[in-house]
Amino acid sequence: MDESGRRHEVFIELRQRLQSGLLIMRNDVAHSPTEVKVSSSSSSSSTESSLLIQTPRELRRVTLPPGVSVVPGSCQPTPSGDDGAGEEGLHFRLRLDVKQQAEWRGSVIERLQVQRSYGFLCQACGACIQEKRVFRRVLPLPSGNWNALVGDWCCHPDPFANLKLHPRPEDCLTGDTYFLLAGDDSSNQALTINPRAAPETTATNHSQDSDKPRPVHTGTSVVSCKKCSAMLGEALTRDVFKFYITEVVETEGDGITNDITRLEFVEKTVSARLVELSSAQSMFRFSLQTPSGKAAVLLWLLNTDTLVAWFPEKPVVSGGNGPLIPLGDGRGDEEHPSRHAVSAVKVLYLPCGATNAPSSHRELISAWEKDISVHPLTLPETTCQEVVQLLQTSTSCLPPSLRSMNSYQVAYMRR
Ligand SMILES: [Zn+2]
Repeated sequence: MDESGRRHEVFIELRQRLQSGLLIMRNDVAHSPTEVKVSSSSSSSSTESSLLIQTPRELRRVTLPPGVSVVPGSCQPTPSGDDGAGEEGLHFRLRLDVKQQAEWRGSVIERLQVQRSYGFLCQACGACIQEKRVFRRVLPLPSGNWNALVGDWCCHPDPFANLKLHPRPEDCLTGDTYFLLAGDDSSNQALTINPRAAPETTATNHSQDSDKPRPVHTGTSVVSCKKCSAMLGEALTRDVFKFYITEVVETEGDGITNDITRLEFVEKTVSARLVELSSAQSMFRFSLQTPSGKAAVLLWLLNTDTLVAWFPEKPVVSGGNGPLIPLGDGRGDEEHPSRHAVSAVKVLYLPCGATNAPSSHRELISAWEKDISVHPLTLPETTCQEVVQLLQTSTSCLPPSLRSMNSYQVAYMRR
């Protein structure tokens, strides 16, 4: 969907767990609640139902996932002045009937299974970096701040400090944001190993800290795609590779599907991983950082049961994700393609790189840095920048009343 950066005329947030929803409509779409008719329709041929929003000029349809529907007649305008309504437009509340929550795709780390054949591709160019791998074991590594926790709990030096957990040829070891694989013939041909670990040299980060020397992982090398030079991970030894989940795509069997944009891939991969870590380990606050340990953005996972749908400022002319709706009663003279309500996570965030950040932000960042319940997540520096870009684009498109909460900015990441 090429609509990044376009503000939303109509924005809908549905909470499946709370069985409620919020609809925000800009003043230029409708001036008064009496001009808006919100109804639900269900299809006789499928379990999908839709939310229909009729305004003086247009009819908009939002397709809901199976098992989710709007309670008929439940959509009510909130009084002007409540929850930011008023200047930015009309606010409506509605109730949902949720028989089953929308399904979503887990990250590669949740998807990898034993005794199945996988290939791995460079996400940037599609080059095959490992082909036909069948794992006998897929095992999680100790979590990212394992060493810090051991250090806090042990009165003697960390007994695991020098323990190297490396995969055997038929193993896949998974971390928070990466997996470890043993190399094979295809990887030897498709990968470039740079023996000098210098992943930060191409950074365009203007942080005041960027000139300071930073601890760089010793004993590791950068692994790049030989075809397009994209950085994919690190070589822990000549034969053991660490691939970041945001840089590599897995394919099962012979199927190769890499038809989403780079940013959409990053968005869905990172959001899926946030959900998985929060549900498995009750983590909600994350510090996304570069391999050299520099924090890029603080992320607070607020809720994971959200469905969002939006209609951007200009009508989508082609390439919509649904058929045009026939003009029913002749009221509307312009039609939007229907939109799907998609699963998303809602996050609060604070970018760490801004030199002009207010002091309250710097205090929050420094408090998070000291807090052991904040979970570090490492991704390549360029990917960290892409995540910040995604979050800021999401925020800028939201209705103004939704863009910030306390000292944090608010964004939605699709799953
Ligand atoms: Zn490549």
